Amino acid sequence: MKVTVWNENIHEKEIPLVTELYPGGLHGYLAGFLKEEDVEVRTATLDESECGLTDEILKDTDVVIWWGHAGHHLVPDEIVEMVHGYVLRGMGLVVLHSGHHSKLFRKLMGTTCNLKWRDDARERVWTIKPNHPIAAGIPETFVLDCEEMYGEPFDVPEPQETIFMSWFNGGEVFRSGFTNVRGNGRIFYFQPGHETNRSFQNPYVQRIIKNAVRWACPVRKNLAIECPHAPALEGE
Ligand code: ZN
Repeated sequence: MKVTVWNENIHEKEIPLVTELYPGGLHGYLAGFLKEEDVEVRTATLDESECGLTDEILKDTDVVIWWGHAGHHLVPDEIVEMVHGYVLRGMGLVVLHSGHHSKLFRKLMGTTCNLKWRDDARERVWTIKPNHPIAAGIPETFVLDCEEMYGEPFDVPEPQETIFMSWFNGGEVFRSGFTNVRGNGRIFYFQPGHETNRSFQNPYVQRIIKNAVRWACPVRKNLAIECPHAPALEGE
Protein backbone atom coordinates (compact mmCIF):
# COMPACT_ATOMS: atom_id res chain seq x y z
CA MET A 1 0.00 0.00 0.00
CA LYS A 2 1.30 3.43 -0.97
CA VAL A 3 0.31 6.51 1.00
CA THR A 4 1.05 10.16 0.17
CA VAL A 5 0.81 12.51 3.15
CA TRP A 6 0.02 16.03 1.96
CA ASN A 7 0.55 19.03 4.25
CA GLU A 8 0.49 22.74 3.46
CA ASN A 9 3.55 23.11 5.73
CA ILE A 10 2.85 26.75 6.61
CA HIS A 11 2.49 26.79 10.42
CA GLU A 12 5.70 24.78 10.66
CA LYS A 13 7.61 27.82 9.35
CA GLU A 14 5.85 30.35 11.60
CA ILE A 15 5.18 28.67 14.96
CA PRO A 16 8.19 26.92 16.57
CA LEU A 17 5.87 24.84 18.81
CA VAL A 18 4.56 22.97 15.76
CA THR A 19 7.92 21.45 14.88
CA GLU A 20 8.75 20.97 18.57
CA LEU A 21 5.65 18.78 18.86
CA TYR A 22 5.98 17.32 15.39
CA PRO A 23 9.60 17.10 14.23
CA GLY A 24 9.77 17.07 10.46
CA GLY A 25 6.43 18.91 10.31
CA LEU A 26 2.97 17.40 10.49
CA HIS A 27 3.63 15.53 7.23
CA GLY A 28 6.93 14.12 8.49
CA TYR A 29 5.40 13.09 11.80
CA LEU A 30 2.35 11.43 10.22
CA ALA A 31 4.61 9.63 7.73
CA GLY A 32 6.82 8.51 10.62
CA PHE A 33 4.13 6.60 12.49
CA LEU A 34 2.53 5.27 9.31
CA LYS A 35 5.87 3.69 8.41
CA GLU A 36 5.45 1.49 11.52
CA GLU A 37 2.82 -0.34 9.47
CA ASP A 38 3.46 -2.24 6.28
CA VAL A 39 2.99 0.95 4.28
CA GLU A 40 5.14 2.80 1.77
CA VAL A 41 4.85 6.48 2.65
CA ARG A 42 5.89 9.64 0.86
CA THR A 43 5.15 13.25 1.72
CA ALA A 44 4.13 16.22 -0.40
CA THR A 45 3.77 19.88 0.51
CA LEU A 46 2.35 23.11 -0.88
CA ASP A 47 5.80 24.62 -1.50
CA GLU A 48 6.86 21.81 -3.84
CA SER A 49 6.34 22.14 -7.58
CA GLU A 50 2.69 21.21 -8.39
CA CYS A 51 2.16 20.97 -4.60
CA GLY A 52 4.10 17.71 -4.79
CA LEU A 53 1.05 16.09 -6.35
CA THR A 54 2.02 15.27 -9.90
CA ASP A 55 0.11 12.86 -12.08
CA GLU A 56 2.91 10.29 -11.71
CA ILE A 57 2.79 10.48 -7.92
CA LEU A 58 -0.99 10.20 -7.75
CA LYS A 59 -0.97 7.31 -10.19
CA ASP A 60 1.37 5.56 -7.77
CA THR A 61 -0.69 6.43 -4.64
CA ASP A 62 -3.42 4.32 -3.00
CA VAL A 63 -4.40 6.79 -0.29
CA VAL A 64 -3.79 10.52 0.20
CA ILE A 65 -3.83 12.02 3.69
CA TRP A 66 -4.69 15.74 3.63
CA TRP A 67 -3.77 18.37 6.26
CA GLY A 68 -4.36 22.04 5.41
CA HIS A 69 -5.47 25.17 7.24
CA ALA A 70 -4.06 28.59 6.34
CA GLY A 71 -3.26 27.85 2.70
CA HIS A 72 -6.41 26.25 1.28
CA HIS A 73 -6.72 29.10 -1.24
CA LEU A 74 -3.11 28.61 -2.36
CA VAL A 75 -3.77 25.14 -3.75
CA PRO A 76 -4.36 25.65 -7.50
CA ASP A 77 -7.75 24.56 -8.82
CA GLU A 78 -6.06 22.29 -11.41
CA ILE A 79 -4.40 20.31 -8.60
CA VAL A 80 -7.71 20.03 -6.73
CA GLU A 81 -9.39 18.88 -9.94
CA MET A 82 -6.72 16.25 -10.53
CA VAL A 83 -6.82 14.81 -6.98
CA HIS A 84 -10.64 14.90 -7.10
CA GLY A 85 -10.55 12.84 -10.31
CA TYR A 86 -8.25 10.27 -8.72
CA VAL A 87 -10.63 9.94 -5.74
CA LEU A 88 -13.61 9.37 -8.07
CA ARG A 89 -11.60 6.67 -9.84
CA GLY A 90 -10.88 4.88 -6.55
CA MET A 91 -8.01 6.54 -4.68
CA GLY A 92 -8.66 6.70 -0.93
CA LEU A 93 -8.64 10.01 0.95
CA VAL A 94 -8.19 10.72 4.67
CA VAL A 95 -8.92 14.35 5.55
CA LEU A 96 -7.62 15.52 8.90
CA HIS A 97 -8.80 18.34 11.16
CA SER A 98 -8.84 21.75 9.38
CA GLY A 99 -8.74 19.96 6.03
CA HIS A 100 -12.55 20.20 6.37
CA HIS A 101 -12.27 23.60 4.66
CA SER A 102 -9.91 22.49 1.88
CA LYS A 103 -11.09 23.06 -1.68
CA LEU A 104 -10.78 19.31 -2.22
CA PHE A 105 -13.02 18.25 0.68
CA ARG A 106 -15.62 20.94 -0.05
CA LYS A 107 -15.74 19.89 -3.69
CA LEU A 108 -16.16 16.25 -2.74
CA MET A 109 -18.85 16.98 -0.13
CA GLY A 110 -20.63 19.63 -2.22
CA THR A 111 -21.35 21.75 0.87
CA THR A 112 -19.66 24.60 2.80
CA CYS A 113 -18.23 22.19 5.44
CA ASN A 114 -18.65 25.06 7.93
CA LEU A 115 -18.65 24.29 11.65
CA LYS A 116 -18.26 25.91 15.06
CA TRP A 117 -14.73 26.19 16.48
CA ARG A 118 -12.82 27.30 19.57
CA ASP A 119 -9.24 26.66 20.69
CA ASP A 120 -8.11 24.85 23.82
CA ALA A 121 -10.95 22.55 24.72
CA ARG A 122 -11.04 19.15 26.41
CA GLU A 123 -12.40 16.52 24.04
CA ARG A 124 -13.94 13.14 24.77
CA VAL A 125 -14.10 10.91 21.71
CA TRP A 126 -16.77 8.18 21.64
CA THR A 127 -16.53 5.12 19.41
CA ILE A 128 -20.08 4.59 18.23
CA LYS A 129 -19.40 1.92 15.58
CA PRO A 130 -17.06 -0.41 17.47
CA ASN A 131 -17.21 -3.12 14.81
CA HIS A 132 -16.03 -0.84 12.01
CA PRO A 133 -12.48 -1.56 10.74
CA ILE A 134 -11.45 2.06 11.47
CA ALA A 135 -12.40 1.50 15.14
CA ALA A 136 -10.24 -1.64 15.53
CA GLY A 137 -8.24 -1.41 18.77
CA ILE A 138 -9.99 1.78 19.90
CA PRO A 139 -11.76 1.81 23.29
CA GLU A 140 -15.35 2.92 23.74
CA THR A 141 -14.10 6.35 24.77
CA PHE A 142 -10.85 8.29 25.21
CA VAL A 143 -9.90 11.84 26.15
CA LEU A 144 -7.75 14.44 24.38
CA ASP A 145 -6.84 16.94 27.09
CA CYS A 146 -6.32 19.85 24.72
CA GLU A 147 -7.79 20.02 21.23
CA GLU A 148 -9.58 22.59 19.12
CA MET A 149 -13.33 22.30 19.57
CA TYR A 150 -15.20 21.64 16.36
CA GLY A 151 -18.94 21.73 16.95
CA GLU A 152 -22.20 20.94 15.21
CA PRO A 153 -23.86 21.89 13.02
CA PHE A 154 -21.19 20.62 10.62
CA ASP A 155 -22.42 21.37 7.10
CA VAL A 156 -21.60 18.09 5.39
CA PRO A 157 -23.86 15.60 3.61
CA GLU A 158 -25.17 12.83 5.86
CA PRO A 159 -22.18 10.52 6.37
CA GLN A 160 -22.28 6.97 5.11
CA GLU A 161 -21.05 5.79 8.52
CA THR A 162 -20.42 7.89 11.60
CA ILE A 163 -17.78 6.00 13.56
CA PHE A 164 -16.73 8.56 16.19
CA MET A 165 -18.65 11.27 18.00
CA SER A 166 -16.98 13.81 20.26
CA TRP A 167 -18.09 15.84 23.24
CA PHE A 168 -16.23 19.01 24.27
CA ASN A 169 -16.14 20.64 27.69
CA GLY A 170 -18.04 23.66 26.38
CA GLY A 171 -21.01 21.34 25.92
CA GLU A 172 -20.65 20.95 22.14
CA VAL A 173 -20.89 17.70 20.21
CA PHE A 174 -19.40 16.81 16.82
CA ARG A 175 -19.33 13.96 14.31
CA SER A 176 -15.57 13.62 14.66
CA GLY A 177 -14.93 10.60 12.46
CA PHE A 178 -17.07 9.55 9.51
CA THR A 179 -16.94 7.99 6.09
CA ASN A 180 -18.36 8.85 2.74
CA VAL A 181 -17.89 7.43 -0.74
CA ARG A 182 -17.58 9.53 -3.88
CA GLY A 183 -17.48 7.64 -7.15
CA ASN A 184 -15.17 4.69 -6.46
CA GLY A 185 -13.20 6.49 -3.74
CA ARG A 186 -13.50 5.99 -0.01
CA ILE A 187 -13.20 9.10 2.15
CA PHE A 188 -12.67 9.34 5.90
CA TYR A 189 -12.80 12.63 7.80
CA PHE A 190 -11.24 12.82 11.28
CA GLN A 191 -11.39 15.93 13.46
CA PRO A 192 -8.45 15.80 15.97
CA GLY A 193 -5.13 17.24 14.83
CA HIS A 194 -4.77 20.96 15.55
CA GLU A 195 -1.16 21.95 14.80
CA THR A 196 -0.28 23.22 18.31
CA ASN A 197 -1.93 20.35 20.22
CA ARG A 198 -0.53 16.90 20.89
CA SER A 199 -3.31 14.79 19.40
CA PHE A 200 -1.16 13.14 16.70
CA GLN A 201 1.06 11.83 19.51
CA ASN A 202 -1.94 10.02 21.03
CA PRO A 203 -1.71 6.26 20.33
CA TYR A 204 -5.46 5.95 19.68
CA VAL A 205 -5.40 8.84 17.20
CA GLN A 206 -2.45 7.19 15.45
CA ARG A 207 -4.28 3.84 15.41
CA ILE A 208 -7.38 5.45 13.88
CA ILE A 209 -5.34 7.08 11.10
CA LYS A 210 -3.51 3.80 10.39
CA ASN A 211 -6.86 1.94 10.32
CA ALA A 212 -8.39 4.60 8.08
CA VAL A 213 -5.59 4.30 5.53
CA ARG A 214 -6.17 0.53 5.34
CA TRP A 215 -9.92 1.01 5.03
CA ALA A 216 -9.60 3.65 2.31
CA CYS A 217 -7.09 1.66 0.24
CA PRO A 218 -8.76 0.72 -3.05
CA VAL A 219 -9.23 -2.89 -4.12
CA ARG A 220 -8.85 -1.71 -7.71
CA LYS A 221 -7.34 1.60 -8.78
CA ASN A 222 -8.20 3.90 -11.64
CA LEU A 223 -11.73 2.71 -12.31
CA ALA A 224 -13.01 5.33 -14.72
CA ILE A 225 -16.68 6.19 -14.40
CA GLU A 226 -17.98 6.40 -17.95
CA CYS A 227 -21.29 6.89 -19.67
CA PRO A 228 -21.24 4.46 -22.62
CA HIS A 229 -23.99 3.64 -25.06
CA ALA A 230 -24.56 -0.05 -24.33
CA PRO A 231 -25.68 -2.52 -26.99
CA ALA A 232 -27.98 -5.26 -25.64
CA LEU A 233 -26.17 -8.37 -24.41
CA GLU A 234 -29.13 -10.62 -25.25
CA GLY A 235 -31.63 -10.72 -28.12
CA GLU A 236 -35.02 -9.14 -27.57
ZN1 ZN B 1 -6.97 23.78 14.08
